[in-house]
Amino acid sequence: MEIEDFRQHAHAFADWMADYLAGVEHYPVRAQVKPGDIARRVPAEPPAAPEAMARIFADFQADLLPGMTHWQHPSFFAYFPANSSPPSVLAEMLTATLAAQCMLWETSPAATELETRVMDWLRRMIGLPEGFAGVIQDTASTATLTALLTARERATGWRASGEGLATLGAEGLRLAVYASEESHSSVEKAATLAGFGRQYLRRIATDAAFAMNPQALAQAIADDQAQGLTPAAVVATLGSTGVGAVDPLEPIAGICQAEGIWLHVDAAWAGSALILPEHRWMIAGVEAADSFVFNPHKWLFTNFDCSAYFVRDPAALTRTFAIAPPYLETREAARVIDYRDWGIPLGRRFRALKLWFVIRAYGVDGLKAKIARHIDWAQELARQVAAAEDFELVAPPSLALFNFRYRPPAIESEDALDRLNRRLLDRLNDGGRLYLTRNLVKGRFAIRFAVGQTATTREHVQQAWRRIQETAKAIAS
Ligand SMILES: *Cc1c(COP(=O)(O)O)cnc(C)c1O
Repeated sequence: MEIEDFRQHAHAFADWMADYLAGVEHYPVRAQVKPGDIARRVPAEPPAAPEAMARIFADFQADLLPGMTHWQHPSFFAYFPANSSPPSVLAEMLTATLAAQCMLWETSPAATELETRVMDWLRRMIGLPEGFAGVIQDTASTATLTALLTARERATGWRASGEGLATLGAEGLRLAVYASEESHSSVEKAATLAGFGRQYLRRIATDAAFAMNPQALAQAIADDQAQGLTPAAVVATLGSTGVGAVDPLEPIAGICQAEGIWLHVDAAWAGSALILPEHRWMIAGVEAADSFVFNPHKWLFTNFDCSAYFVRDPAALTRTFAIAPPYLETREAARVIDYRDWGIPLGRRFRALKLWFVIRAYGVDGLKAKIARHIDWAQELARQVAAAEDFELVAPPSLALFNFRYRPPAIESEDALDRLNRRLLDRLNDGGRLYLTRNLVKGRFAIRFAVGQTATTREHVQQAWRRIQETAKAIAS
């Protein structure tokens, strides 16, 4: 493609992008296609001859867009948000154009130095104490794996990576990891990938609010020690994926400190709410944590992928991940940060740029106002649901998340309520006017409602409630 053609298409795409964001509300939120519908429209053979961009773009609109779920739709209340924003998209355009590999300081000094700076901005914004150093990872899953790998190394005196787990195992070493039964599936994945073994992941019981019970944690650790196991890491969750539960960090940190256990804090979603001081009670005790992750790509208006990983001891991190083939040696290595040593992949995108754009374009006050409103609207709706005769909350609301179910008094059987709510959810999502996620709370079917999209207003939230009530009436009659 000639550069002048590129210019022309880029202008046309920019117009399309603005129109899309202005009109995203007119698409069905969840893609309304069946498995295979989209694949059928894409030829099995790749084109041998070049095709015109106008044609490719037309096919994108006609053949692919119907198969997209519109995450930036203001009535997207499913999963957790993966919100974005115009400043973030603009930065992504620049990142894509520069297409730099930011693995070493030398391969893009600005990317490295901006990353250090904006990660420290984020640290200050969420109230993490000084001393925590940040690095951008692709996802919280990767950050948690990174944490457990570092914990494994520290617990084995950095022997696991050198001598191999098999050698340590032959000496009788068995490592254990602890997380609440509400912890994210990425914790289990990380524990298995880091070689702990799924059987040594202890799922700690939770209390009535679905938060980890610290006495149960202490007991599990003591039991393991009595059996000759070595407790290596605890993962505390702030804002669990199901119901938004917040594990009590202070007592958990006390236990970890007393036993020399690595404490990793998974605040993937809830971490963004820490920019509001009134939610900082969640991180009381965090100064004793070894690592902490939250996702600006969830609730801080920054395009996926952008996960903020903070560690108290960067030396433990680089000792686990640094590897130095001659072709990656640089003259400045001793005086600069080479972020390739702070995680798993070598190659790195220039992801700090979008954070810099977002934080500057909104200002911290603008970001605070947006998140505070999401929380207000969700809490307002949760109160309305709790007050409605035919509905009930099935867990305490947390920040901008709550779980509820339809419960007409005439229906008493739990199985019938499960079926009714499943039908209600399918009907709502098939309608395409809003999008919600299913959940199981104490084994029963629940509907999960999370507010957090950039363009969502109070009216969208209230409109969703009206739709839920109308649809519930329609399926019950
Ligand atoms: C979303 C989520 C994750 C996983 O985030 P990714 O960035 O997609 O890996 C981990 N933990 C919690 C609590 C989450 O909500």
